[in-house]
Amino acid sequence: MLPMREKLVCPNCGEKEVDYAYIGNMDTRVGYMVVWCENCNHGIHVSRVEVPENAEMIAFEDDEKFQEKVPEVIQYDEA
Ligand SMILES: [Zn+2]
Repeated sequence: MLPMREKLVCPNCGEKEVDYAYIGNMDTRVGYMVVWCENCNHGIHVSRVEVPENAEMIAFEDDEKFQEKVPEVIQYDEA
């Protein structure tokens, strides 16, 4: 069964347009997380996370997949 990918409500603009991605080391499954809102382009980085077993993860070196998934226009606040 695939994990649920229902979007979350944005604390900044209130729209249900929040998506996220894990970026990490495929062997250790340690990396960081980015969370962003597709409506207002507000985002955060969460550093040093352990990527859950069933979560989709982008490898550190996989720039192509990262750019495909994460919009370029996001303005990040540091978490
Ligand atoms: Zn928003």
